[in-house]
Amino acid sequence: MSFSGMVKEELSRQISMARHCRIAEIAALLSACGKVNAEGALRFQTENDAVVRKYFTLLQKTFNIDTEIAIRESRQMKKGNVYSVEITDSTQALTVLQGTKLSLNEADGDTLYLDNELITQQNCCKRAFIRGAFLASGSISDPEKGYHFEIVCQDERRAKYLQRIIRSFDIDAKIVLRKKSYVVYVKEGAQIVDMLAIMEANVALMNLENIRILKEMRNSVNRKVNCETANINKTVNAAVKQIEDIRLIEEKTGLHNLSEGLSEIAELRLQYPEATLKELGMMLNPQVGKSGVNHRLRKLSEMADELRTNEEELL
Ligand SMILES: [Zn+2]
Repeated sequence: MSFSGMVKEELSRQISMARHCRIAEIAALLSACGKVNAEGALRFQTENDAVVRKYFTLLQKTFNIDTEIAIRESRQMKKGNVYSVEITDSTQALTVLQGTKLSLNEADGDTLYLDNELITQQNCCKRAFIRGAFLASGSISDPEKGYHFEIVCQDERRAKYLQRIIRSFDIDAKIVLRKKSYVVYVKEGAQIVDMLAIMEANVALMNLENIRILKEMRNSVNRKVNCETANINKTVNAAVKQIEDIRLIEEKTGLHNLSEGLSEIAELRLQYPEATLKELGMMLNPQVGKSGVNHRLRKLSEMADELRTNEEELL
């Protein structure tokens, strides 16, 4: 199951204790997936079975309305099922519409929208409204791949209303026009964590946080490896230069003419080009520390430089 699917599954299972919150959530669900027909029947339709189950339960607990969930295959191939709940009794439908303070959309004559702030006045109800809107038409990208949270709205009015509610929690929700839909979205990882907290998707929140921590750890390990590689390159470059110097001395004056300390380290460096200074020092008898080895190698390098200048002067 996708991350989005898991969040919806989790959100579909929790039913608010407070009636005001349940009403706010029904309002959000209907404003995205609800339609009223000419006979006054109220129809709710979705492709997500978890979402239809939640709507069904909310109706029952809030308005004491028992309905049936109808299932049919989508007309589009491989699109899965379409689930719907229809309240055919127009009196019952009216009870729901009045209870949720939804208005009929003049533009199309059958969809519903909320423009009554009373329904989402309290913070708990704002959370419930966002939850409902997300269940109806929201998605979250797989956090392994990236951070993106969005809720698709049919028109600008619905998008602006939702954006206002999300922004009341200090989340920087933006709106973008995609084809004919207005998409309310949140991009930043930490804010998406906040969105899950607001919707009370606590299991998903923990999962997302774990993935975020793992990702950060992976990044810092990569940074460290890059840094270590850079250091190794530096050591290798230094060793290459040391060997060049020693070869020059060997060629021009011979290593046996060096003092014992210098000839010893020169021989070892030639023999172990990849050894670190510390390792070279440990091979000496008696052992010499890293700075001692460094000192001797510098001395050799100075001698080689001298030989080079002499050579240039002779030319
Ligand atoms: Zn509430």
